[in-house]
Amino acid sequence: MPESLPPDLVALRDRMRAFVEADLLPLEAGLEPDAPAPSDIRQRVRARSKELGLFGMTQPRSAGGSEAGPLAMVVARETLAAGNSSLARYVFGPGPGMLARADGDLRTRYLEPVLRGEAQGAFAFTEPSGPGAPDRATWAKRDGEAFVVTGRKSFVSGGATADFYQVLVNVEEDASGPGGTAVLLVDSGTPGVTIDRAFESIEGGGHVELRFDGARVPQSNVLGKVGEGMPRAMGNINEERVESAASACGIALWTVDYVTRHITQGHRAGGRLGDREGVRLRYSDLRIETYAARAMLYRTARLLETSDDAMNEAAATKVFCTEVVGRVVDGAVQLVGGQALIVGHPLERLYRRVRSMRVAAGASDVLRLGVARGIIEFNAGRL
Ligand SMILES: Cc1cc2nc3c(=O)[nH]c(=O)nc-3n(C[C@H](O)[C@H](O)[C@H](O)COP(=O)(O)OP(=O)(O)OC[C@H]3O[C@@H](n4cnc5c(N)ncnc54)[C@H](O)[C@@H]3O)c2cc1C
Repeated sequence: MPESLPPDLVALRDRMRAFVEADLLPLEAGLEPDAPAPSDIRQRVRARSKELGLFGMTQPRSAGGSEAGPLAMVVARETLAAGNSSLARYVFGPGPGMLARADGDLRTRYLEPVLRGEAQGAFAFTEPSGPGAPDRATWAKRDGEAFVVTGRKSFVSGGATADFYQVLVNVEEDASGPGGTAVLLVDSGTPGVTIDRAFESIEGGGHVELRFDGARVPQSNVLGKVGEGMPRAMGNINEERVESAASACGIALWTVDYVTRHITQGHRAGGRLGDREGVRLRYSDLRIETYAARAMLYRTARLLETSDDAMNEAAATKVFCTEVVGRVVDGAVQLVGGQALIVGHPLERLYRRVRSMRVAAGASDVLRLGVARGIIEFNAGRL
């Protein structure tokens, strides 16, 4: 639980808090929170984060990082999110993601430049749906030394500036090899790969729709083997889900604290909002749900420290914590009233941000199906 952390993690939490207070919040004054920060500010954040030993937590030791474990990452991410700084996104170094097990040439050409911050990949998994969507998911067929890729991907975060895409495809079986899913590393600018549309989502993220019209990609650009696409794409899914849950809990902490201050100040109707029983009931719900979410988050982080069999718990935690923070921010908006809905108010921004969390990295109901499947079909999962 958060209160039984070992001394090194208490020190990490205190260091992160002090970093937010002393560095991030003063640096972000006057910046537009949804826009990318100017490069000198980003550099100052990174330099200070490196000095404090935070930047490398997400990076493997082989690349000079400190490769923090799940519990340390939860402490760091939750505390960072609880500071509610728009500069939080620049604090950690780029992690390997699904490239973690890339070897040989792919390691040198893709993983290492990503870890050094010299190249950026984008994940192209989601297929279009609805009217006009192709009747076949993105597919590839062998042709000599290449795969020829055809299809569309509808939601590629960071795709406009990415140097390469990690694309999930279905490879056709033929005389020269097996079929199955595969992750292909496709350089941006490859002939036959076009950005059909660039768009933003409500929390401020930038994304693109990609089209593949017979794009030729060397067969050596498969991450792992054909048939390993889904496991590769899901390779660090537990970490991603718990990361989302940790950010959700941090936002909930910030929000509850904000509401506490709001309802304990004077109100124009006289007295304090927090003196009214009806307000106390609503306020208590925010605290009860945040308490439960954090208890779950820390239990799952501890499970991940000692066992890699915590897929169900990571999925359940992502669902619960992101749904809790949705209710907490919504409840906070209600208690604060009209001011909270003015564009630019911190709760308005969080309201948009937390809404995305229940869809990105696995929609809640799809993860619920996974939790049930885990226990009913694989006998995996704890209560
Ligand atoms: C901020 C953001 C960033 C994203 N970044 C990326 C990215 O970088 N790369 C990428 O590939 N994708 C990305 N996505 C897309 C994201 O992964 C998908 O939106 C998400 O997986 C849901 O898929 P979908 O949008 O196709 O919705 P659908 O799969 O159509 O699901 C819509 C809804 O239908 C219901 N539903 C669907 N299937 C089932 C089922 N089997 N049983 C019951 N109910 C079901 C659920 O209510 C679900 O919420 C991003 C999305 C967001 C919001």
